[in-house]
Amino acid sequence: MEQKQSATEIARRTLSQLAKEGLPPTPENYEAIYNKITGKKVDPLSGPSQALLKALANADKKTATYIALEKKISAAIEKQNWGAVENELQMLLSSSAANTSMEINWALLIRALLRQLEISHKGTTLSRKKEGLSRVLTNFAKDPAVLAEKMQALMRSWGNETTEIEVQISNPNAAQHEQSNSAATTDLTAKDNDNTAAQLQDMLARTLDLALLPLLKDAPNTYKNAQDLLEQLRTQTAQQLTTESASQIKDILFTIETERENQQDIHQTLIDLLRLLTKSMASLAVEDSWLQGQLSIVNDVLSKPIDMTSLSNAVGSLKELVHKQSNLKPALHDAQCLIKKMAETFISRLVDMTETTDEYHQKIENHQHKLSGVNSIDELNGVLQNVLEDTRMIGLTVQRTREEFNDSKAKVSQAELKIQELTSVLEYINEVASEDYLTGTLNRRGMEEALEREFSRADRHHTALCIAMMDIDHFKKINDALGHSTGDEALAHFAKVIKNVKRATDVLARYGGEEFIIILPNTEQEDAIKVIERVQRKLTKEFFMHSDERVVITFSAGVAQRIGEETPDEIIPRGDAALYAAKNVGRNRVMAASTQQSALIRALQK
Ligand code: GH3
Ligand code: MG
Ligand code: MG
Repeated sequence: MEQKQSATEIARRTLSQLAKEGLPPTPENYEAIYNKITGKKVDPLSGPSQALLKALANADKKTATYIALEKKISAAIEKQNWGAVENELQMLLSSSAANTSMEINWALLIRALLRQLEISHKGTTLSRKKEGLSRVLTNFAKDPAVLAEKMQALMRSWGNETTEIEVQISNPNAAQHEQSNSAATTDLTAKDNDNTAAQLQDMLARTLDLALLPLLKDAPNTYKNAQDLLEQLRTQTAQQLTTESASQIKDILFTIETERENQQDIHQTLIDLLRLLTKSMASLAVEDSWLQGQLSIVNDVLSKPIDMTSLSNAVGSLKELVHKQSNLKPALHDAQCLIKKMAETFISRLVDMTETTDEYHQKIENHQHKLSGVNSIDELNGVLQNVLEDTRMIGLTVQRTREEFNDSKAKVSQAELKIQELTSVLEYINEVASEDYLTGTLNRRGMEEALEREFSRADRHHTALCIAMMDIDHFKKINDALGHSTGDEALAHFAKVIKNVKRATDVLARYGGEEFIIILPNTEQEDAIKVIERVQRKLTKEFFMHSDERVVITFSAGVAQRIGEETPDEIIPRGDAALYAAKNVGRNRVMAASTQQSALIRALQK
């Protein structure tokens, strides 16, 4: 049976325990050990602790910092960690001192707001401004500091008169407040997190507005999405922004990367074209030392990394070249005219000669007639004299014609040589360029480069990619009915309509004849089909006109989405098969490619 311990016994055990633990015999230590031995439970929330907790709980204006510190203080009281209680209390006091000193000049802010509402701003309306303001008021009403910040950000988004507003309402104690905050950085509170998130959000909004939006001018859809996102960033809290915003940002960055690469490609292609141009001009002007000199200046610029100074020098030289070229251009035309003129002269000489010989025969007949009637040597002498004179005349005509003929022959072969030279330069340009001269789309060569570029980009970003194969329906009939050159114009019209409908990131190339391919990066099959159907609809509105008559152009298409790491050689046959399926079922339609075929093609290629 347990014996109740006597007070003396407990006191003795307490003292010996204190000695054992090496604790100083203070009243607190004595009480703590005493309670442990007797098993007495201590209520930490009694007395002063309870009063402190009650006071903390009853505060009427609680900020996020306050709530976080209140939690910490309660925990420290429970553990009876009085040192921690003291630290947290000190922090609480300094933070509420900072809060009271952070006063917002609401009068100035509201005045600025009224003025900004009255002024009309480009790109927004009064009702859109009110809408934004109402959202900000609803979302940030609980925290005046964030509310003021968000209201300023909103006004900034309307126009550029921001400095005035910011200077007027910013808190004069902000620097001090920041210092007191930095002293407590080791213990980031919820409030600090909120502020950091709001600042980052504001920085993201400014980056989007000032740095990213201007890069999206050529991609109107993404531009619109970026504007929507900017609006969200300015009117919503970090918590309200969803994962959709993250994917919007991803999409924006993807488009910018594509645009940047396109710009780089355009830049490189322009330089290549310039090189080609100077090369072909040089071969046309081998003997012109002035022109050669100008060309070598341009070539020199192109061989080094390009900067603005060297570029403007090149432009100066090129202007001179263009002037000279305007003299060169008629040369080809002149050469062709010369041949025609030579042929005309030659024929007219032939006519002259025939006429002359006819006349000669008549004269000889006359002379023969006269000869038969001559009666004296004198008369015969006279007739013979006339015969000789006429024969000499015809000899002269023949000689003159022969000389002219030889001269013409020499000039014709010179002109032929020039035409050959000019034609081969044109063929060379066509061969090495990546653009199709008739339709202004990429040619086969350009298409291969684009396929390689877009496929490796899709691999890098793990994004979807589609291709669409398109072939004009019954194009032969257009050629047969209206002539080949009208057929050419119809092809150019078809390509123009596609260019206007496709998105900036889609790449159009002439696959061959009246067949085209579109590469659609970052696109699922369903959306790719929609793009092609848009082209179909557009063609029913933008007719090809021939001699004031509307010519209807329709096409069939096959759309294939890339499976895994499929190569262009694997996906194109799938697109082609879908295109021919579309032809077989009646033309003028878009079909999705079968995914089964890919495996089959792969197996056949092995
Ligand atoms: P389908 O609906 O089956 O595609 O019929 P289609 O007549 O379009 O096809 P087909 O392959 O029989 O004929 C294509 C025609 O396109 C034949 C060719 O002369 C013409 N073509 C190809 N390239 C050009 C070009 O550059 N200019 C012109 N004018 N015609 C071209
Ligand atoms: Mg066709
Ligand atoms: Mg065809």
